[in-house]
Amino acid sequence: MRLREEFAFIGVGSNLGDRLGYLQDAVDLLELDARTRVDAVSGVYETEPVGGPEQGPYLNMAVRVATRRSPRRLLGVCARIEARLGRVRRNQGGEDRWGPRTVDLDILLYGRRRVRRPDLVVPHPRLCERAFALVPLIEVAPGMALPDGTSLATALARIAPVEGVRAVGTQVRLPASRVAP
Ligand code: ATP
Ligand code: CA
Ligand code: CA
Repeated sequence: MRLREEFAFIGVGSNLGDRLGYLQDAVDLLELDARTRVDAVSGVYETEPVGGPEQGPYLNMAVRVATRRSPRRLLGVCARIEARLGRVRRNQGGEDRWGPRTVDLDILLYGRRRVRRPDLVVPHPRLCERAFALVPLIEVAPGMALPDGTSLATALARIAPVEGVRAVGTQVRLPASRVAP
């Protein structure tokens, strides 16, 4: 069955190696998926790690994609991109959670849909606690609301003041095929 195109929002983070390069590669690889196109990218933010072991600061951004993948298939696309960009999972569902990583792609929103499966929960279960996810998301999802109707702006206001999230003033390029001729 061919799903119709839906907007989804993916949070991308990196705190190892060439962080900006990994963000760019993640965006380019999302575009490369045959059923997904990158529609918009947020600015890049440097953010303090939250939870997990002692580790360096992250770069975080959000990507708006239009996709014909189901939520689970889109998660599969994200996992393949992480693997391709060298993310090593030492222990499935275990130790490297919240630890340093070359790249992490989380599905923050998939339209206004809710998904509750053992391997996938959408909206992302920790989205509303995380300024590092909400701040870039709002840039590419203006006016968007959570499935319960709460606007993203309201969700962000609830965790104000925002600390440890700083715009670096750099932007990842939209994949070449998306740039208007
Ligand atoms: P967090 O989920 O708190 O941001 P993390 O990104 O470090 O932590 P991972 O180790 O990358 O966690 O992912 C653990 C599992 O989370 C994945 O294997 C995936 O099945 C599951 N998961 C559930 N919901 C989502 C979602 N919305 N986006 C991405 N992964 C999800
Ligand atoms: Ca994450
Ligand atoms: Ca993740």
